[in-house]
Amino acid sequence: MSKPRVAIFDFACCEGCQLQIVNLEEEILNLIDVVDVVEWREAMSEQSHEYDIAIIEGSITREEDAKRLEVIRSRAKILIALGACATMGGLNKLKNNFDDLNEVRECVYGKDGQMPHLNTFKTKACDEVVEVDFKIHGCPIDAAEFAQIIRSLLVGKTPFVPDYPVCVECKANENICRYEYDEVCLGPIIRAGCNAPCPAAGRECFGCRGLVDNPNVEAAQEVMDKYNLTVDDLKQKLVLFNSK
Ligand code: SF4
Ligand code: SF4
Ligand code: SF4
Repeated sequence: MSKPRVAIFDFACCEGCQLQIVNLEEEILNLIDVVDVVEWREAMSEQSHEYDIAIIEGSITREEDAKRLEVIRSRAKILIALGACATMGGLNKLKNNFDDLNEVRECVYGKDGQMPHLNTFKTKACDEVVEVDFKIHGCPIDAAEFAQIIRSLLVGKTPFVPDYPVCVECKANENICRYEYDEVCLGPIIRAGCNAPCPAAGRECFGCRGLVDNPNVEAAQEVMDKYNLTVDDLKQKLVLFNSK
C-alpha cells in the first residue's frame, strides 16, 4: 500500500510551528516511515503538486496567497491548519484593529511601505478562505500533540483535541493562579491541550490556542467579580491572539 503523501506550506508567519516539527527529532523519523513528505520548503528542495495531506502554516494576508491556498485545497484530500496563525489568524490579526492598512504598512516599513509587493489585506485564518479539515492549535504548536494528531489521522481515528479550558490542566498541575498575582489570565476560556506552560512559568495565559467551543462565560464572570475585574479586562487581553 502506498504511503500518504504530505506537503507542508507556509504563508505569513514566523515559521516557528514548522520548527517545532523539526524539533521532533527521533519521532519525525517514525512519522517519515509512514508518510511520504513530497514538499516542505523549510527542510527539502523538492516540490510536488501531488499530495494527499496539505499542512498549512501561517495566515492569509494577500490576494495572491488566498489564490495559492485555494489551489492547494483543490489538490489535497485533507487540509490541516498548523498553529495559531493558520487556525485563527493569530498575532497577524493585530493589524485588523486598524481601519487603514496603509498606516500599518508605513508603521512597519516606513517610507517603503507603499511598495507594491507589500500590498496586504486584512488578515484571514485559513478557514476564512477555504474549508479546513483539522486544526492544530498553539503559538507555537506542541510537537508531541502534532505527532499524536498526525498518527491518529493516518489510522483513520478522530484525533483527541481538548474542548475544556486551560484552567483544568493548570489546576491539575497545582500552579498558583495568576489572578492571585493581580494578573488577568485567559485560562478560564481558552482551549487546553498545552498543559498550561505559561502559568507554570509564572505568566498568565495569552490565549494562543483560541477559545473553547462554548466558553463558560458565567464562570469567567465569577472569576472577574472575585478579583474586582471586568469582562473588558478579559477582552483587552484577547486582542493579542484573538482579534477578529
Ligand atoms: S503560530 Fe506562532 S510560532 Fe506558529 S508560525 Fe505563527 S507566530 Fe510562528
Ligand atoms: S486562571 Fe490562569 S492561572 Fe488561574 S487556574 Fe486558570 S489557567 Fe491557571
Ligand atoms: S497557557 Fe495559554 S498562552 Fe500559554 S501555551 Fe497554553 S494556551 Fe497558549
